[in-house]
Amino acid sequence: MQTPDSTSMVIVGAGHCGGRAAQALRTAGWLGPIHLVGDEPHAPYERPPLSKDLLTGGKQAAECALHSADDWASLHITRHVAQVTALHPASRSITLSGGQTLGYQSLLLATGGKVRTLSIPGGDLPEVLTLRNLMDAATLGSRLVPGHRLLVVGGGFIGLEVAASARKLGCEVTLVEGAPRLMGRAVPEPVAERALALHRAQGVRVLLGASPHSIARTAEGLCMALADGTQIVADTVLAGIGIVPDLALPGAAGLAVGRGICVNAQLQTSLPGIFAAGDVAEFPSVLSGQLVRQETWHNAETQAAIAAQNMLGGIDGNLVAYTAFPWFWSDQYHYQLQVAGEPALATHSATRALDGDGLLIFYLDASDTLVGACGWGETSRVAKDLKLARTLVEKGVTASAEALADPATKLKAFLSNAR
Ligand SMILES: Cc1cc2nc3c(=O)[nH]c(=O)nc-3n(C[C@H](O)[C@H](O)[C@H](O)COP(=O)(O)OP(=O)(O)OC[C@H]3O[C@@H](n4cnc5c(N)ncnc54)[C@H](O)[C@@H]3O)c2cc1C
Repeated sequence: MQTPDSTSMVIVGAGHCGGRAAQALRTAGWLGPIHLVGDEPHAPYERPPLSKDLLTGGKQAAECALHSADDWASLHITRHVAQVTALHPASRSITLSGGQTLGYQSLLLATGGKVRTLSIPGGDLPEVLTLRNLMDAATLGSRLVPGHRLLVVGGGFIGLEVAASARKLGCEVTLVEGAPRLMGRAVPEPVAERALALHRAQGVRVLLGASPHSIARTAEGLCMALADGTQIVADTVLAGIGIVPDLALPGAAGLAVGRGICVNAQLQTSLPGIFAAGDVAEFPSVLSGQLVRQETWHNAETQAAIAAQNMLGGIDGNLVAYTAFPWFWSDQYHYQLQVAGEPALATHSATRALDGDGLLIFYLDASDTLVGACGWGETSRVAKDLKLARTLVEKGVTASAEALADPATKLKAFLSNAR
């Protein structure tokens, strides 16, 4: 058994956030040991391509990696392929599935989340898949051949992206969503409507307000019965119904947990020397101060850097606060969606038409300061505008709803109203 080493930096979870944090520790000048423990066989990689280019063949698994094997070697980071089974805050150590113990000076929990599975009769059949990691993507990808009948459960980002990829590959796609519209509260109604129209135009059969009741294997294939009696036959079912952070490990160690592992603005948990970041962390929003958890690439990327800095004691002895504005994107066919800031904080909004059938909705507070923006349109035609909208939100631009809605005023012009 390895002796606990209190001079080590230890990271649990070798996903996007954990991998970036390990790299950031070196960039910030840490010369001591770094242990990165993850239960996936692969070195850290980015997940967004799993539902997009990796499925359609536009990207290979190796291209999703955060770093090449040589880069990891040159960073002198010790990778452990193991599950962490216990945290021992009192002795500043953790236990790995093989029984090994690692001691730490600072510990980062970047354990992401586990996919929700379909808890209905037949939900555990082998043809009922989920998508979170490279192995899931390989299994799903191997089935998506022309004519394959795919039934997607869940009209959120992952379900819609997989539906788009499957259509590109010539599959017959049905998507069922329990809510009356797509993408829940994460995007405004007009954008959800356009996305729905696009998917239907691309040949996806979309059923809204549809609750899966059971799945049975029949001579025709898998047969899903909906609560209203509708039956859908498919070869594969993909459940894209979200993730839940695994809070048993931090909870058992006495860390404060809520909808995630609770951290303050410096990403410190309730116990000394332990930080949390990425999908698993519940942190105070820079805009509202309310506790939020975000499941986005940008959150994993930017929190990793702050967590690493603070694991080393911050800058000049002062811990650094996480102040990045929320932002995420989703690619569906040749369209892109982007949401920046926190639209839910708005008192009013302004809608601007973009090139083609694109649209951009700005969200303003009572003092006409931008608190969010949501844009949608053909990627090649709206990318520049969506990028500018994000900048305007980040800069806290003040403008009237009328001016923002007026396509005659260039978006760039609003930069002069920055905070
Ligand atoms: C298919 C897909 C498409 C996506 N597309 C987009 C997109 O277009 N735009 C966007 O903004 N975001 C997207 N995301 C979200 C984004 O990828 C995540 O927010 C990001 O990966 C979160 O990083 P993380 O490091 O917090 O978690 P993860 O990347 O999930 O990493 C956590 C790691 O910890 C490991 N782990 C957990 N518990 C333990 C333990 N006890 N011991 C050891 N290891 C453990 C897990 O196995 C995992 O490897 C997508 C996600 C998926 C799955």
